Amino acid sequence: MPFSNLGLSDKVLAAVEAAGYTTPTPIQEQAIPHVLARRDVLGIAQTGTGKTAAFTLPMLTMLEQGRARARMPRTLILEPTRELAAQVQENFDMCGKNHKLNVALIIGGVSFDDQDAKLMRGVDVLIATPGRLLDHFERGRLLMSSVELLVIDEADRMLDMGFIPDIERICKLVPFTRQTLFFTATMPPEIRHITEQFLHNPVKVEVAKPASTVSSITQRLVKSGRESHEKRDTLRRLIRGADSFKNAIVFCNRKRDVAQLHRSLVRHGFNAAALHGDMDQSARTAALDSFRNGTVTLLVASDVAARGLDIPDVSHVFNFDVPVHADDYVHRIGRTGRAGKTGTAITIVGPADSKAITTIEKLIGQDIAWVADTAHADTDPAADRSEASDDHREPRRNGRGGGRHRHRTPRDEEQHHRPPDQRQPAAARQGQNGHTAPAGHRAPVTRIDEARRRPAPPPPRLHEPLEQSGGHLPAFLLRPVRSKA
Ligand code: AMP
Repeated sequence: MPFSNLGLSDKVLAAVEAAGYTTPTPIQEQAIPHVLARRDVLGIAQTGTGKTAAFTLPMLTMLEQGRARARMPRTLILEPTRELAAQVQENFDMCGKNHKLNVALIIGGVSFDDQDAKLMRGVDVLIATPGRLLDHFERGRLLMSSVELLVIDEADRMLDMGFIPDIERICKLVPFTRQTLFFTATMPPEIRHITEQFLHNPVKVEVAKPASTVSSITQRLVKSGRESHEKRDTLRRLIRGADSFKNAIVFCNRKRDVAQLHRSLVRHGFNAAALHGDMDQSARTAALDSFRNGTVTLLVASDVAARGLDIPDVSHVFNFDVPVHADDYVHRIGRTGRAGKTGTAITIVGPADSKAITTIEKLIGQDIAWVADTAHADTDPAADRSEASDDHREPRRNGRGGGRHRHRTPRDEEQHHRPPDQRQPAAARQGQNGHTAPAGHRAPVTRIDEARRRPAPPPPRLHEPLEQSGGHLPAFLLRPVRSKA
């Protein structure tokens, strides 16, 4: 069915054509006529299915009639994260370019005053995260009594993030007679309860998971040790050895690990940015922009921050941690293999993860193949040593511990004085994946070269058994040694 049969206005159809959309996706085809008929819609769909345009296009058509009044938005879209809210705004900008509508973004982490000024001017489409929306409401800066249409997007993610009480409150603040469009990828009991409470005789529209999660993504599992530094070793080898690598999102389960892994990757010469919920909005936007425009090739992210991100050209997803919820696995790997491209998703699996993997395989209805890890040759023992201690410390300010007193190698010194993009291993690196070539791909070197490059032997790591001694290390060697500051 063409877009022109869905009942959309000429202005919207022109914008859709200009955006390069030729045929509606199943969720658009099924939902748009009902939205235009002013029915409540319960859409069971996840990102990647085209669900955003399933509500923005009919909203634009409907908003052509009428005008907004100061502080009284006509429509309200709730999103769980700032990034998703910004993405919806982009969709309005693209599809609403023939309209003169006021679209405002009300999200945390940015100035209240600018948002307040926008609300004052009158808003046709208000896209908001629940917390900041309620802040404005409580300050008396916003009235919700003129909202004709409410969109609740990514409801199951709202549940995960603890936003359900806010959603319930907002649903009671908007008029009872409004139209409601409700989107969720899954229907846990709490979500079902909300739909029963706040939707009026909704049309249920359900679309399958985007085909990309199955067919266009190569999924693999790789065994690793339990410790963080072992997983980081594995990750670096995977990135360096990845075929057709362009860029990757690396997922961690915890924000703290996002920050630590990011530091580690940068220390190893990778071009990486971090994205997690504790960063302020400008840092989040900067990280995302630099990944989108290719300035950085690795984005280390938490689930919440990266959920639903629409970046069309991500070649790889690495799960540094196996996600706690199997659903998150589907969301994570769905960041690659988008927009007709193929992608690869590799999950690093520690000894304690086998149960979680079984649950994931059950959810996706297929077994994921294991691949062997490549040789244990890493190229930057100096960076390794520095971060081995990272596992055990918070940054110290008293000069003890940390990187300052670790044993320095000549190569260290050399790296110290070079700009980051010229540091070893960057010199050897500029081949595959914008980084150090994998062990098997290094240019041939003479023995003398090799000897020159070889750094002084690192001091033994206290948390790791000595491989040469078969792991049998006398206890006194494991005792921490005090060094003079
Ligand atoms: P969403 O599920 O809303 O995050 O959309 C996923 C991606 O599909 C976005 O990049 C949209 O721009 C794109 N998209 C949405 N609708 C269509 C369509 N009818 N044809 C082609 N691409 C689309």
